[in-house]
Amino acid sequence: MTGHSTHWKLFKFLKVLLFSAIFAITVLFLVATVRTFTFDVNAGLELGKWENTTTISLHLSPQQRKNLLANFKAAIQIPTVSFTETNVNTSALREFDGLLRRVFPKVFSSSLVKHEVVGNYSHLFTVPGREPDLEPYMLLAHIDVVPADEADGWDAPPFSAQEINGFIYGRGTIDNKQSVMGILQALEYLLERGYTPRRSFYIGLGHDEEVNGLHGAVNIVKLLKSRGVKLQYVLDEGLAVLDGVISGLDGPAALIGISEKGQATVKLSVSSAPGHSSMPPRESSIGILASAVGGKSDAQTVEHLAHKVMDLVKSTISDERVKVEMVNGFDPLPISSYDEQAFGFQVIKKTVQVMFPQLTVAPGVCVGNTDSRHYKDITRDIYRFAPMWFKPGDPQR
Ligand SMILES: [Zn+2]
Repeated sequence: MTGHSTHWKLFKFLKVLLFSAIFAITVLFLVATVRTFTFDVNAGLELGKWENTTTISLHLSPQQRKNLLANFKAAIQIPTVSFTETNVNTSALREFDGLLRRVFPKVFSSSLVKHEVVGNYSHLFTVPGREPDLEPYMLLAHIDVVPADEADGWDAPPFSAQEINGFIYGRGTIDNKQSVMGILQALEYLLERGYTPRRSFYIGLGHDEEVNGLHGAVNIVKLLKSRGVKLQYVLDEGLAVLDGVISGLDGPAALIGISEKGQATVKLSVSSAPGHSSMPPRESSIGILASAVGGKSDAQTVEHLAHKVMDLVKSTISDERVKVEMVNGFDPLPISSYDEQAFGFQVIKKTVQVMFPQLTVAPGVCVGNTDSRHYKDITRDIYRFAPMWFKPGDPQR
């Protein structure tokens, strides 16, 4: 009997537990359902109005797809290499300018689009919207690429745009001619279909982003500032869709960069009395420098603001004979807004979700730097994202 009674109590207990669990889950489900139906994701954004004002067919004919691919390959084949801040391949940049005008005739002839060449090879496009009171936004991309040498283990020559197993090989395919050609191709199609935007926007194509954008982006920003332009937000390259390439992240996720790391280049030098190699001093300048650097570099430095890096380097070395100079550097960029009221973030997020419903969209921090940092004075929100889909094996490719 005792045993039976214990079993019965246990059974009753489990029954209560089970019902409590079911009840809790039901309530949770109900609340979630009610919230789903009543929760206004557009709160404050007035996107409801914005979303359905124009319906433009996104259909591309097979011929249009063929042209699109051919234009992209042509862009890859022009070696628009930036070697240093003062050494860029100007003849390639001129050739690239010609390509853009040839393959996007509507963009360059439309009375709606104002086109300006800035800093000799960069481009600024202004597309005025129907409602001039709305603050414009800006799309950024860059034309130049870093040097590429076939000897560095390329499967196909870096400016061949050769297609192997469905992949196009070439310098600039993902950094950043896909954005250049994608943005202008989209505008070309929209203009063909008689589109006029509600909100004004700009497109900025830098020609020296890989070497700090001092002639391209910097001059575009100067021009916009002189015109009193303030931007709602800026969208540049940076992060992408990561699908199984980051450990701990299951399923594909679109990461939108809301900030980027700062940078500091520090020069260390030592001057000491010259001597002959047959009578070396007890400590040579190279020795002093080596011990200043050796074993003392600290990964923590990257987390500090650029102006604090100098103090940190000096105190880490703690040797007055070593002269420390800041060559160049800048602080990490401010964090752009990414809440429900953040217009730019929500527009990008919604667009990604419409195109790829299977994706999780989340904010992230960009490890690299782009031209977008030059825009920080004329906008509060800078986002860094291009819809490239990275899968395992792609980083090696
Ligand atoms: Zn880039």
